[in-house]
Amino acid sequence: MTRRRWIAEHWDEATATIVGAQAEHMARVLRAQPGMEADVVAGGHVFHAEVAAATPNEIRFNLIAELQADPALPVTLVVAVYKFDRMEWAIEKATELGVAAIAPVIARRTEKRLAQAAGKRAERWRRIAHEAAQQARRSDVPVIYEPEPLSTRVRAASAATRPASGSTYIVLAEQERTTTLRLALEEAMAAAQTEMPTLEIAIGPEGGWAPEEEALFDANGWRAASLGPRILRAETAAIAALAVVASCLE
Ligand code: SAH
Repeated sequence: MTRRRWIAEHWDEATATIVGAQAEHMARVLRAQPGMEADVVAGGHVFHAEVAAATPNEIRFNLIAELQADPALPVTLVVAVYKFDRMEWAIEKATELGVAAIAPVIARRTEKRLAQAAGKRAERWRRIAHEAAQQARRSDVPVIYEPEPLSTRVRAASAATRPASGSTYIVLAEQERTTTLRLALEEAMAAAQTEMPTLEIAIGPEGGWAPEEEALFDANGWRAASLGPRILRAETAAIAALAVVASCLE
């Protein structure tokens, strides 16, 4: 049986602690006592652990042995900010599917009101990712970057890692007819040979990418890819893309 995983707030070589809602749940609902066994995630590693001390405010564990971790999918999703309720849903589902990082970006067709409010949302998005990671028994929590203009992300991503690394940059576009995401991934895997390729995949806002954004991606070496002949909502595109990545890489 797979145990629930507790994500530690603080840890050192031999111990780890959880606080807040996790501690309260473990103490009150599960009636944690010293000696109770648990799996604890600390610093991206999963440990078999034993409760050393339990109160509703804090549970302290002794770490016994490291368990084999399951790495995240090597994917950063670049998501154009759109309706917050749908975006939160996408963050939750992308986390369950194993995304490594999410980079919210302000696109030309991101509603102005949402663009202005996005900066204050990042903390909430991190909390959602944290809870979803725990629910999905992930050994790590996806990184949620601060929202930034699309052009900053596109230029930085391309400049920082190319040409040395095996990174592949893909922009999902419903107008693309020839290159499917699957094909783009197969080519990336062939190019990366024995290494796992790292991917950055961009998804547009409800109104889609503006023509000058398509040109920007193109000029920075991003490849346009399709998820099929139907137009998907952004959150559906995020889930479909991660499912395709998982089926190619895992
Ligand atoms: N412009 C569209 C809606 C955009 S859908 C309209 O006519 O209403 C939002 C985003 O989801 C797009 O920018 C794209 O990144 C992604 N997307 C949706 N359907 C897709 C498909 N079939 N293939 C690739 N990407 C898709």
